[in-house]
Amino acid sequence: MARIVMKFGGTSMAGIERIRHVANLVKREAERGNQVIVVVSAMAGETDRLIHLCREAASRYDTREYDVVVASGEQVTSGLLAITLQGMGLNARSYMGWQLPIRTTQAHASALIDGIDVDVLERVFDDDGIAVIPGFQGVAEDGSVATLGRGGSDTSAVAIAAAARADRCDIYTDVDGVYTTDPRIVPRARKIPIITYEEMLELASVGAKVLQTRSVGLAMRENIPLQVLSSFEDKPGTMVVADELIEDSAMERQLITGIAYDKNEARVTLTGLPDRPGAVAAIFAPLAEASINVDMIVQSVPRAGQKSDLTFTVPTESLVQTSDVLEKLKEEIGFEEILTDTEVVKVSAVGVGMRSNAGIAAQMFQALAGRGINILAITTSEIKVSVLIPEEYTELAVRVLHTAYGLDAETPE
Ligand code: ASP
Ligand code: MG
Repeated sequence: MARIVMKFGGTSMAGIERIRHVANLVKREAERGNQVIVVVSAMAGETDRLIHLCREAASRYDTREYDVVVASGEQVTSGLLAITLQGMGLNARSYMGWQLPIRTTQAHASALIDGIDVDVLERVFDDDGIAVIPGFQGVAEDGSVATLGRGGSDTSAVAIAAAARADRCDIYTDVDGVYTTDPRIVPRARKIPIITYEEMLELASVGAKVLQTRSVGLAMRENIPLQVLSSFEDKPGTMVVADELIEDSAMERQLITGIAYDKNEARVTLTGLPDRPGAVAAIFAPLAEASINVDMIVQSVPRAGQKSDLTFTVPTESLVQTSDVLEKLKEEIGFEEILTDTEVVKVSAVGVGMRSNAGIAAQMFQALAGRGINILAITTSEIKVSVLIPEEYTELAVRVLHTAYGLDAETPE
């Protein structure tokens, strides 16, 4: 017997017919003799609709009341699923965030989970019951409803799995797993059967948006195996697990697990910087203070007594603020000009196999050079190499790298 958290996303819960299908999947898992906790999202589009209503009511709204409104989407789907399961003869019951409770911080609309009491859940298991829990919501310190931020029900599911010491957390969604790259760009992209938390974090944060990144970080800290799978197709998905669990098959492992891309990057270049200690700190300290996330950084090394250039990237939505902050400090920092460019993309190759293999980066640069793609900036970590290139080459670069690292499937999946 295993204890499993099954989480269903918005498309899986969109309408009574789909909820009935979900109920069948839950029933099947329970009939295998497993203990099941179900966590659900609101119906697809519902949270957007509710947010829109808040905006219509008042352009500046109180986030405490916003949470009251948006948390209702998950309340509806959890009740409907419990009714459906009961109709199938199962001992199912819904429990709202405050009933367990799922305790959160006071930060309405972006609350963090402080802790989850599992007494209620244990009692449900003692009665061979199935608990259905709305994702995305909890109860803040003052007793008010709080939500976790968009996409938060993945995090709810993982947190509940950790608190209830589940053996696994299955995330049912509308894709059947995590792919080596975006299948819309590369039809020969392959489904990855098993991947480490670290790789998943890198792929998620660079644009493969299957799971809320925060939920993967939590699963890694709590060591909860995740499975991403489709609620529409009956086939195995992608397992996301600790590194040690796949170390054994390292021989068969690909050096590179996946290629990701992120168009949400803007390039900033400062020219004519003075060559003295503190010059770079004078730029990045005020950006950090303004909570601007700087990603890639490249500085040219000047000849003695000459000036240098510095290039870095920020999220596209932070570009205007970045220019404002730096323009105000122009004298102090001592640069000549700010040049910016939003027509750039970051393409990354990710894989834990990189740790023990040299030449991965060189292979990337060669493959891109072979197609005449100019590299504007580079960053590397232990398991990732990223390049910044002109956005118009996104598709070409992703395809070329997918082939260069031997990731293409023999036939399109
Ligand atoms: N319903 C919420 C949203 O759309 C939470 C979730 O589904 O993860 O953001
Ligand atoms: Mg989601």
